[in-house]
Amino acid sequence: MMVLMNREATTSQVDAVIGRIEAHKMQALRLPGDEHLAIGVASAIPPDLRDVLTQALSVLPGVDHVVQISRPYKLASREFRRVSTKFSLKDVEFGGERVIVMAGPCSVETRDQIHESAQAVKSAGAQVLRGGAYKPRTSPYAFQGLGPEGLQLLQEVGKEYDILTVSEVMSPEDVSLVAAHVDILQIGARNMQNYSLLIAAGKSGHPTLLKRGPSASIDEFLLAAEYLLHHGTERVMLCERGVHPLDRAYARNTLDLNAVPVLKQISHLPVITDPSHGVGVARYVPAMAKASIAAGADGVIIEVHPDPKSALSDGAQSLTPAQFEEMMKDLRKVAQAVGREM
Ligand code: PEP
Ligand code: MN
Repeated sequence: MMVLMNREATTSQVDAVIGRIEAHKMQALRLPGDEHLAIGVASAIPPDLRDVLTQALSVLPGVDHVVQISRPYKLASREFRRVSTKFSLKDVEFGGERVIVMAGPCSVETRDQIHESAQAVKSAGAQVLRGGAYKPRTSPYAFQGLGPEGLQLLQEVGKEYDILTVSEVMSPEDVSLVAAHVDILQIGARNMQNYSLLIAAGKSGHPTLLKRGPSASIDEFLLAAEYLLHHGTERVMLCERGVHPLDRAYARNTLDLNAVPVLKQISHLPVITDPSHGVGVARYVPAMAKASIAAGADGVIIEVHPDPKSALSDGAQSLTPAQFEEMMKDLRKVAQAVGREM
């Protein structure tokens, strides 16, 4: 349950609402809203109390209306915010009519590699350059990323090619450094439930692309997004990047396209898919990117490498610049067919 206060509500009226909730031994939370201050009831409400409490709170001075939020997450739910979240970084709008494309290598490897990648993805029409500087690798012996040097390179090419940047942050201590170098923080699938990271990223207020864990339910995913929103970041994007597959023989993960319409229905946050990690095989990436847009995704994030064979990570799922350009042409057709711009 959420009590939405009038714009003019006074502090004492807010306190009275909180007092009324707490009188029933339930926890009340002050939640920031763009139109109204909202007070959420965090505790489970006994069924016999729900109607009585709704009635009692509705008539208190300063209360605009009371909404029932049946989901465990509040701020991330469409019940809380009916209008889809849109935000702009420079001149790029996320969550709007235009389908957004983020692209670039899995890892930032060298100055030349990231320059070539930026040039290729920008000229093919991507709005955001991706590139990991901190890499969560399954093996401790695999390339771990260039760290601060990678961030520096990404920032440099972002400026040179006038393209937004996104890069993964793996630990709470690195949030401010990564945020100082890139436009969008990425929280990786493996860290979706790293609560100290979510809190630190949330407090930074920096735009964040949150990836769904490979075994996470939709509710767990949205509760992770709730951490970011609760701690102060409003510009959150949800990224479906594939769940554990039934069969690894042909694909690394299974891109859960069901999640796209489901998330759009129950949350107001923009939904992005990552077909590269979702399927894990370059040949199948364009089909899954097209399918994502057809399913209603607000954008895709695609791995592109100037020479996938020599990539230090995820070469098998990376497109060449030429393959990326070809795919972009098809994505535009799909976007147009489903009434989106691209
Ligand atoms: C990545 O984007 O390169 C990455 C590691 O993604 P995920 O967290 O989805 O595995
Ligand atoms: Mn990768």
